[in-house]
Amino acid sequence: MSSCTRFVLITLVIFQCLSLLCLAQDFDFFYFVQSWPGSYCDTGRSCCYPRAGKPSADFKIHGLWPNYNDATYPSNCDSSNPFDLTQISDLVSSMQRNWPSLACPGSDSTKFWAHEWNKHGTCAESVLNQHGYFETSLNLKSQANILQALETAGINPDGSYYSLDKIKSAIEGGVGYSPGITCNVDDSGNRQLYEVYLCVDSSASGFINCPIFPSGQCGSSVEFPKF
Ligand code: AMP
Repeated sequence: MSSCTRFVLITLVIFQCLSLLCLAQDFDFFYFVQSWPGSYCDTGRSCCYPRAGKPSADFKIHGLWPNYNDATYPSNCDSSNPFDLTQISDLVSSMQRNWPSLACPGSDSTKFWAHEWNKHGTCAESVLNQHGYFETSLNLKSQANILQALETAGINPDGSYYSLDKIKSAIEGGVGYSPGITCNVDDSGNRQLYEVYLCVDSSASGFINCPIFPSGQCGSSVEFPKF
């Protein structure tokens, strides 16, 4: 082999390795997590409504979280690209409705959005910039109407207990994908429906079947509290 051919071959191999490195995934999939505000507010910690007032009785966005198939996840990936409200000014009113903070003291929710972008969003920068991260999350919420799916199946936020399996089937029936469900415990020690996890492919193009579900802390029957 001539030295020229060897040089071309080595260059090709180097380019191939570099392109594989560029395509390498920073993560395997996203969790898109919605929470029931009634279950955030009736725990010992309590909650505060945003300055704009009590949010509507609907599931709210918690976050869009890059995740690995082994259940671990990357976090705080790029401190050089912190949350910047000016990049999402067109989304703010929808964010206030769909992604309100319930932390105390009541606020305009920007601290919550900053936390979500800085901790999770910066780990998906190869796929979504800040505007894309929040816009995609809002679009996913409008594609996955959890409350409507539950109510269609007769599962209402009325303080009653419902079978966990029926909750999962109702969401799968309405959204098309089986969810992960997590529970928390209210003031009186009752296990209640808290968060609903759906999975999204690593390009953020749509829902997929979850490679792995979060461990739920629910019983076979869980309360669905009012809000
Ligand atoms: P994360 O770090 O993304 O897993 O989210 C957990 C953090 O978000 C905790 O500090 C929670 O207290 C906070 N959090 C969760 N839900 C809400 C909410 N609805 N409003 C404000 N903060 C929240």
